[in-house]
Amino acid sequence: MGKMDWINDELKLLKESGRYVPIRVLESSQGAWVKIDGKKMLNLCSNNYLGLANHPEVKKAMADAIQYYGVGAGAVRSIAGTMDIHIKLEEKIAEFKHMENSLVYQGGLLANLGTIPALVNKDDVIFSEELNHASIIDGVRLSSAKRVVFSHLSAEDLEKQLKQERKSGKKALIVTDGVFSMDGDIAPLPEISELGEKYDSMVYVDDAHGEGVLGDHGRGIVDHFNLVNKVDIEMGTFSKAIGVMGGFVAGSNELIDYLKQKARPFLFSSALNPGEVAAILKSIEIMERDDSLLKKLWNNADRLKTGLKNLGFNTGHSKTPITPVIIGEERNAVEFSKTLYDEGIFASPIVYPTVAKGTARIRLMPSAVHSEGDIKFAIDKFESIGKKMKLI
Ligand SMILES: *Cc1c(COP(=O)(O)O)cnc(C)c1O
Repeated sequence: MGKMDWINDELKLLKESGRYVPIRVLESSQGAWVKIDGKKMLNLCSNNYLGLANHPEVKKAMADAIQYYGVGAGAVRSIAGTMDIHIKLEEKIAEFKHMENSLVYQGGLLANLGTIPALVNKDDVIFSEELNHASIIDGVRLSSAKRVVFSHLSAEDLEKQLKQERKSGKKALIVTDGVFSMDGDIAPLPEISELGEKYDSMVYVDDAHGEGVLGDHGRGIVDHFNLVNKVDIEMGTFSKAIGVMGGFVAGSNELIDYLKQKARPFLFSSALNPGEVAAILKSIEIMERDDSLLKKLWNNADRLKTGLKNLGFNTGHSKTPITPVIIGEERNAVEFSKTLYDEGIFASPIVYPTVAKGTARIRLMPSAVHSEGDIKFAIDKFESIGKKMKLI
């Protein structure tokens, strides 16, 4: 037995339990259609909600910035890696989010891993939503704070937990996803922010799937609920609707000043490269300038959901463009996705443990760059496969 043999055993186990995820390789840019295995496929998998990942103006902004600044930031931000363009982006995000200030990270995951442990420690308590994203869960673990989980979308359960557990920490942090990526449902943020006031607890929302999707011009969940100044920490990503890479946290001047002294991904990992920063700035500028992409996204989502519902599919209770088609049995979802793939549609199955047993689904991500014809193509294929498999 070699000392690395355990890896093969682990891989075998994953494969036997159907939890091994094969990874498809794209041979094209992101977009409504992508090339996989040499074949053109309708893409209903990506988080490129507005099509900005391959937008000509965004690409040009990146190329121009590379000509001027080069490709790398050269160091961690606090040593020699902060360029004027990083500051410009942080000012732009603050303005876009109606927050005082913001801090850019190299990714959304890093924003959560870096910020949460800077806010609370072993003397404190975190109230964490049951279905929070993995990067929040890991940020919570890194903080060593006491963790109390509250039920999905339940302000009532959160209050119950706060009553019981708030006293167990000096400081308290309530943390929740804004939009939940597997179901497309939305956190009751107005109630959560009130509870934050009532129980002297900081409120932190992860808006990864809200940016570019919710609120005026896609400003996100805080704008959607008119909660400016009522949420303490708004975290987000540049890798989804904004189409590029990176993450951020927005909040008060003091919060940002403090994170620059404490957040480990800021202090110990090199800065986002200038090309990415310029591309993000351009994406936000496009979103501010015109909301036609946002409208197109929602039109496509409405058309897709209505079409599937009319056929008799269970599309859950999504309140956003995220469209789960709940199939039920894990095996059926995997087979459905495979048949879709053979018929030219790229749409991944989502199974246990990512979602609860018996709620396996195909998750569809419509975007602003899909045409009406693309959406109809998808609905027609769902109809023929659904009938063949006797699911509708
Ligand atoms: C995608 C996602 C992240 C991670 O963002 P990246 O920028 O891709 O690292 C964090 N939180 C939530 C809720 C997400 O959906």
